[in-house]
Order: sequence, then structure tokens, then C-alpha cells
Amino acid sequence: MLSDYSFEEIKLYAKKIGLPEFRGEQIFDAIYSGKSLQEISNLSKAIKDIIAKDYPEYNIERKYESKDGTKKYIIKYADNNIVECVLMKYKYGYTLCISTQVGCRMGCKFCASTLHGLARNLSTGEMLGQVFLVNRDLGGSRKNRLITNIVLMGSGEPLDNFDNVTKFIELISASKGLNISQRNISLSTCGLVDKIYKLMEKNFNITLTISLHATTDEYRRQIMPIANKFAIKEIIDACSEYYKKTNRRIYFEYTLIKSINDSEEDVIRLSKLLKGLNCHVNVIPLNSVKERTLKGTSRLDAYKFVDNLKSKGVSATVRRTMGEDIAGACGQLRNQLMDLKD
Ligand code: SAH
Repeated sequence: MLSDYSFEEIKLYAKKIGLPEFRGEQIFDAIYSGKSLQEISNLSKAIKDIIAKDYPEYNIERKYESKDGTKKYIIKYADNNIVECVLMKYKYGYTLCISTQVGCRMGCKFCASTLHGLARNLSTGEMLGQVFLVNRDLGGSRKNRLITNIVLMGSGEPLDNFDNVTKFIELISASKGLNISQRNISLSTCGLVDKIYKLMEKNFNITLTISLHATTDEYRRQIMPIANKFAIKEIIDACSEYYKKTNRRIYFEYTLIKSINDSEEDVIRLSKLLKGLNCHVNVIPLNSVKERTLKGTSRLDAYKFVDNLKSKGVSATVRRTMGEDIAGACGQLRNQLMDLKD
């Protein structure tokens, strides 16, 4: 699919099918502006017929808007698989939370994305497509990019789709493409330690976010199967290395689940675990997922948890939940359409 290609690769493609270089640039511009083949006005029908089999096919199937202005987009791909991505408006611009897989195989007990397992990985071009389509929906184009930040925090485990995700980071930050600074890109992982080391070799400037959610391996294993493979200590060591290598502050997501990970002892253990690491903890009370029975800690208790952490020298905040009324908040994204009135 042409959206998997870089600018140079698309120019080469044009050359191979006998088109002049500027046609390659036009094709690239159309793809990066989120246009469908039919919507391209500067290419003849003959050229469109030739490139049709390679031209990306995806569309915005549905769009939901939250009371808080957050928008959730259902993106449909050529094989009819769908993913969700979420657009949040901030003072500095727009952040798009994109999905990296259709479904997920990590099996975290609190998350909706993994309910039906992994259907398949998304290709680089399919991930880029989410950005192109939403940018266009906002009225943007390649030259007029309105999305300022990308978070790889939608459905899927980005490091479980390593090659496609790292190529996505390269292409989305390429100056010829949408030119989104790597400093404005965050990648969130449940902690695939071997892949965190592999990521360091890429020398990206992105922010690494770890979904931690527990302060002992025993508790973590109860809610996150990946904890059977990697210990918390190994994750923290990998984070220290990541910081040494990139100088980028590490972020931790800590979802508060009532009576599971929200005790005073958790605060003490968490502050010990993170001691000496330049990091910040985002605390989020669990968002509801109707198939799941785990309960979130109250917002009030979340503030107390954060205050306790701060008193122990850990930088932490309670994260604002956005898009909950449209099932667009953390952990609520799915790969199957859900009737929101349910
Ligand atoms: N697989 C990656 C990317 C997903 S990011 C990861 O685990 O980091 C989605 C974030 O939402 C993760 O931090 C995840 O742990 C969190 N999350 C999942 N279910 C949630 C829920 N019900 N309430 C709040 N956060 C949740």
C-alpha cells in the first residue's frame, strides 16, 4: 500500500510505472492530505486507474463527539476491520491517540481493547491513515497540519508491532511528511522489556510511557499477564537506560483500581521503585468497561493517592479523563462497533 512508503519511495514508485517525478509528489501530497483516490483532482483517470490497486483504502466510518469536545473516530480498513482513534483538543493544539493493532493480545484485566484478542497488526500506512483522515476532517492537509501531538495509546500494544510502529514514527516525523516532531510523540507500553531496549537503538526522541498499574509483581500478575514475563524491576532498569540514552523524562500510567493497587503501602512501594528516576506518574481512576468487574477508586481518593506520592518526592498528577461519555477514554477503545446507548 502506497501509504507505507516514504516520499522517496513514492517518487521511485512513480518512476517505475513510467510517470514523471512531479506525479509522484502529487500522489504523495494526496495521500498525506487524507484524500481518497476519487477526490484527487490533479491526476487523470488513466493515472488513477494505474495506481488504484496500490492506493490506500480506509475511511472514517463514524464519528462521535463528547460533551468535553473530545472526538472518537471509527476508522475502517480495506478488509473491513475497524479501529478507534481519539482526538483531544488542548491549549497547544490537537493530540491524536492512535491505535496500533486491531484488538490486542496482552490480556490486561481492565481493558476493553483486548476483550476479543488480537485480530491483526496495523501496517505503517494504516496507522498513518488515522492521522491523515482526522487531520483532513479538521480541515487540514499535508501542508496545513493541524494535529500537533501523537500518542500511541489507542488499542493494541505498540511494541508488539515493533517494525510497523517504528517505521510509523520515522514517517510521521519526516520533514517531507507531516513533520510532527518526535518530541511531540509518546509511546505507551505495558512493558515489553526486550523491545524497550530495541527501541533505544532507534535513537528516537519520543517520550516513553509505561503502563505500570501495580507495585509488586504478584499484584501485577493478577491484572496484567505480561507480568509473568517481565518483572517490575526489569522495566524500571530499562527506563533508567532509556533516560540515560535519550534524556527524555519517563512517564508512568497508574490506573487506580479499588482495593487492588490503591493502598498506602502502594504509595510507599511506588516511591521506592521510582526513586532516582526522572519521571512523572499519571494517575487515572479506572474507567468503566461494561464486561469488566473491577471498580475504579474515587476521584477524591485518587487525589489523596497523588498527594501522598508527592509528599514522598514523586512527581504525580491525577489525569483528566476525556471522552468517557463516548467510550473514548483510556481502556475503552474496541475493535467492534458498540452501541453507545447500551
Ligand atoms: N498497550 C499499551 C498502549 C495502550 S495505552 C499500554 O498498555 O500502554 C492505554 C492506556 O489505558 C494504558 O495505560 C492502559 O493500561 C490504560 N487502561 C486500560 N484500561 C483502562 C481502564 N479501564 N481505565 C483506565 N485506564 C485504562
